[in-house]
Amino acid sequence: MATSHLTSVFRPPLPWTPLVIAADRCKGCELCVAACPKAVLALDRGRVNALGYHPICLTDRSGCTSCALCARVCPDAVFTVWAARREEHRQ
Ligand code: SF4
Ligand code: SF4
Repeated sequence: MATSHLTSVFRPPLPWTPLVIAADRCKGCELCVAACPKAVLALDRGRVNALGYHPICLTDRSGCTSCALCARVCPDAVFTVWAARREEHRQ
């Protein structure tokens, strides 16, 4: 059903993370690393994805502000960005 599909698409990730990373689409170009103002993105040199590249990973979940600059510059739509929950803004 279309309604249940939309519900699953817009459901926040659990466990909570500001970024959902489709690592198998990453080409390792590091445009997102250069764009991130918080320096919380890096290539995971311990992994190789389906395309043969070291994929991007989030190095500090608490340092990410959900600004989405990484998603704007990524040519391969690797990132889905979630805004922090309201209770996290109050902490
Ligand atoms: S959303 Fe912003 S702070 Fe978080 S990883 Fe992307 S560019 Fe960095
Ligand atoms: S900009 Fe996209 S393709 Fe390039 S390293 Fe970052 S996530 Fe990977």
